[in-house]
Amino acid sequence: MSGTESIEHWDVVLVGGGIMSATLGVLLSEVRPDWRIAVVERLDEAGLESSNARNNAGTGHAGLCEFNYTPRRPDGTVDVSSAVRIGEQFATSLLFWSRLVEQGVLGPPEAFIRSVPHLSFGSGTDSVAYLRARWEALRDHPLFSDMEFSDSPDSIASWAPLMSEGRRSNEPVALTRTAQGTDVDFGVLTRQLLSVLEDRGGAVHLRRQVTSLRRRGQAWQMEVRDRGTEQRRRLRTPYVFIGAGGGTLPLLQSARIPETRRYGAFPISGRFLRTDRPDLVAAHRGKVYGHAEPGAPAISVPHLDLRVLDGRESLLFGPFASFSPRFLTRGRLTDLPRSVRLGNLPVLLTSARDNRSLVTYLVRQVTQSAEARMAALRRFVPTARADDWTLSTAGQRVQVLKKTDGRGTLVGFGTEIVTSAGGSLAALLGASPGASTAASTMLDVLAASFPQRMPEWAPRLDRLVPSAQTARESDPGRLTEEVARARRVLGLAPLSTAPRRKE
Ligand SMILES: Cc1cc2nc3c(=O)[nH]c(=O)nc-3n(C[C@H](O)[C@H](O)[C@H](O)COP(=O)(O)OP(=O)(O)OC[C@H]3O[C@@H](n4cnc5c(N)ncnc54)[C@H](O)[C@@H]3O)c2cc1C
Repeated sequence: MSGTESIEHWDVVLVGGGIMSATLGVLLSEVRPDWRIAVVERLDEAGLESSNARNNAGTGHAGLCEFNYTPRRPDGTVDVSSAVRIGEQFATSLLFWSRLVEQGVLGPPEAFIRSVPHLSFGSGTDSVAYLRARWEALRDHPLFSDMEFSDSPDSIASWAPLMSEGRRSNEPVALTRTAQGTDVDFGVLTRQLLSVLEDRGGAVHLRRQVTSLRRRGQAWQMEVRDRGTEQRRRLRTPYVFIGAGGGTLPLLQSARIPETRRYGAFPISGRFLRTDRPDLVAAHRGKVYGHAEPGAPAISVPHLDLRVLDGRESLLFGPFASFSPRFLTRGRLTDLPRSVRLGNLPVLLTSARDNRSLVTYLVRQVTQSAEARMAALRRFVPTARADDWTLSTAGQRVQVLKKTDGRGTLVGFGTEIVTSAGGSLAALLGASPGASTAASTMLDVLAASFPQRMPEWAPRLDRLVPSAQTARESDPGRLTEEVARARRVLGLAPLSTAPRRKE
């Protein structure tokens, strides 16, 4: 280590050991193998907060099944541009991970990704018409070409038997299905990516918490507390990325970054109903997304998912929102009050005023009874019995609030890259669509932070992280081939939605 005894000098410091820092670390080590890169993580292991499999829904968001990425226009047609963009961002992630697996540095891939069909569910005449229009608008795009639609009770019974059994109402229902869907363990992936970084000479410091951040001359200086020994040390770097998830805004506030002075934050926890009953798990082989309630945010879209958690298959249904003032699952009860300043109080108040339906939705969710949660589940699984399902808490989403055109808006339903001091500091706010788009989001961070270096770095980056959008624009056939190859490398053979037979 260079520098004085009390100050460590690094070329890059990545605060937080989640999927975002891990991805950025690998990209930087690719273009600047000579740079000394440190990751600083407060917990005993990386990937334990939002990126942990239990703390998120594990959906490889690719626009295949989520209605919120395909809004309906007033004339009944469907705008699929967001689904295509997210599909291409996820394809970029697949290409990135597969290149690293091919190089023999990342893996085994089956530890972090598996095929799970993605389905969308429409019930009622209007919703079925919407689903059909969505399918018609998507099916010609190369990333959505295998999508099937059916409103026939027989197909639905074979694609999603648990959803069809005991369904008495005469309401029409329909599903779309695609075998391209995935379930991703972003926690395992984070740790695998950080191993790649360590093999290339990067350092991952665990149990170390960045407690403050300041601009000192041309560098950033951080105070770091060792949570094991309580020792304190200082790090100095010309470039810092804050990928601290829920811990990002407090650090930006501590650094007095003018760009974020007026941001506020509000945490929402996600909860899921879970069953491990083998016959139920065997009867539902996919992730099925429905519609959010009117006025409810996109993160509340109900879905019934086949998941693998710690090597064991389960079904999870949710999310149900709940409230905790912590910004991290292992954060402090004082996180929310400490984030409120004179400068951002008006943003919090304006956001509450301008997002009344969201506030009403949250109050309803927080006060929801167990019976109401089972009623929501029974819209998907008519025969669900309360005894088979338990409620588990997932991760914290810190919704970042800011004022746009005088209105309080939520950054949390998109992703915002904040840069300061000429790009020498970058941070990520907002968590949607999240971990699935880490590769393209971190390419955007590189471009925002190092615009002058990008022409020199582009050829290496293109080889490691080819943009799916560019591949489609130059030759749609090439995109199909590249994605098919990535899927083979990652071992993604399609999983049938047919119920698994009993041994
Ligand atoms: C309920 C829920 C469901 C979701 N479902 C999906 C999904 O299905 N698909 C999807 O793609 N995305 C999903 N997401 C979003 C996804 O989980 C996040 O976008 C992603 O994990 C964020 O990664 P990150 O690296 O930014 O943050 P994190 O994984 O939270 O990592 C931040 C790290 O920083 C550390 N840290 C914080 N403060 C400090 C500090 N001061 N010093 C040192 N270390 C610090 C934390 O301990 C943590 O390890 C979901 C999120 C939630 C909450």
